[in-house]
Amino acid sequence: MQNLPTKEHFSVPTTEQNYQLQDWQKGYESQRQESAYWLEDIEGEIPKDLQGTLFRNGPGLLDINGREIAHPFDGDGLICAITFKGGRAYFRNRFVRTAGFIKEQKAGKILYRGVFGTQKPGGWWANAFDFKIKNIANTNVIYWGEKLLALWEAAEPHSLNPATLETFGLDYLDSILAPGDPFAAHPKIDPSCQMDNGAPCLVNFAIKPGFSTTIIVYELAPDGQLLRRREHQVPGFAFIHDFAITPNYCIFFQNPVKFNPIPFALGFQGAGEGVEFQPKQPTKIVVIPRNPSQKSIQIWETKAGFVFHHANAFETEDNRICIDSICYESFPKVEENTSYKEVEFDLLSPGQLWRFTLDLKAERVKRELVESRCCEFPALHPEKVGRTYQYLFLGAAHQATGNAPLQAILKLNLTTGERQLWSAAPKGYVNEPIFVPKPNAISEDDGWVLTMVYDASHHRSDLVILDGRDLNGQPVAKLHLKYHIPYGLHGSWTPQCFNF
Ligand code: FE
Repeated sequence: MQNLPTKEHFSVPTTEQNYQLQDWQKGYESQRQESAYWLEDIEGEIPKDLQGTLFRNGPGLLDINGREIAHPFDGDGLICAITFKGGRAYFRNRFVRTAGFIKEQKAGKILYRGVFGTQKPGGWWANAFDFKIKNIANTNVIYWGEKLLALWEAAEPHSLNPATLETFGLDYLDSILAPGDPFAAHPKIDPSCQMDNGAPCLVNFAIKPGFSTTIIVYELAPDGQLLRRREHQVPGFAFIHDFAITPNYCIFFQNPVKFNPIPFALGFQGAGEGVEFQPKQPTKIVVIPRNPSQKSIQIWETKAGFVFHHANAFETEDNRICIDSICYESFPKVEENTSYKEVEFDLLSPGQLWRFTLDLKAERVKRELVESRCCEFPALHPEKVGRTYQYLFLGAAHQATGNAPLQAILKLNLTTGERQLWSAAPKGYVNEPIFVPKPNAISEDDGWVLTMVYDASHHRSDLVILDGRDLNGQPVAKLHLKYHIPYGLHGSWTPQCFNF
């Protein structure tokens, strides 16, 4: 089994601030510009052998015609594409033209309620019993089966032209999905699927909530064709944003929450605000075999915590499954009637990296704290998804303790416990890192770490390229964009170049 150095306890309050809340807030200004240009304002050099496209997605509008939305998770999806070839880079950004985006921009006002609290003007009376959903396509973007797909977990994907980012429209994945079917925003690519003779496959899921929850698992071939689809029932309500895979299993964390739909139905709050954390209930770990002929689901229990994102999972030779996840003490909710921009970071519990080990023989779950520094958005070598791995890259706080905005990229050596940190503090705020292996790499960390950084001193964003082997050193290159891109959610890398 993989050796894991761990720390058990921490509880040291923040002593010094390395950020200004006003700086952080500016990264949440809407960006209405859409353009395409060569990135020519560069510090350092773009590696000549870095070839492919980085796609990013995230909320681009934080207001509709001046009226602020309640939460960034309700913001319309803005896609960025940065193509690297021959030591040069080309930038393009464009909103996903969802039906709701087009209607609202035409009307010049909010027409839809958001899941995370955005309300139509006119008070509760104008919002009561309005269950219409706006597919905002803002959470992730992937290139698979020769389609560029903008994903939002509660509805269908939108397909886009990968060269121009023009929106084609809702995409049912060649009839794999029916109208209205959700498709989660956290697909995993199994680099070598044992059921497909070692070919890669994309594994994703969909949640249909209710008193009991339906989890649908989809597995798609590289050409986009459906390989496997299976529905599973899990008792109780579930709020599941992400999952993890191993060669044999899909693993879901059923966070201990209950859902009170009444204030939402009556127009007082968004559906997401009706999610209530239940600290006395256990987190349930749902283990589903990927082979559809094996039907038995296992459900394990561990201490209450809240997980949005999993870093990775793997199986060991001694019959264990390990899952590495960013876990919060509770559901990180902002105080009611307070703007998300006024969040008091110190009052919220940080996301921290935990390892959950399921001992299949002894039927026991062990939970260990791996990294106590506030962190989110884990990334790793794509060939290590579902396998034992050594290196993890994360967005992290500048300081080792307390809760704070993400300003640094942390590299964690899970074998030796060694940490490396590149920090953009005090003026920089990082997004999710993406690890791109070098061609002919000689080690797991031999590659580049790409991340968008909001630079509050210039009110613009940079694309920063870090050396995966040495995060402590200077960045390989900083590419200055002409304007800022609001803090994003997720993205992906593909070796293809579309606009050359
Ligand atoms: Fe996510």
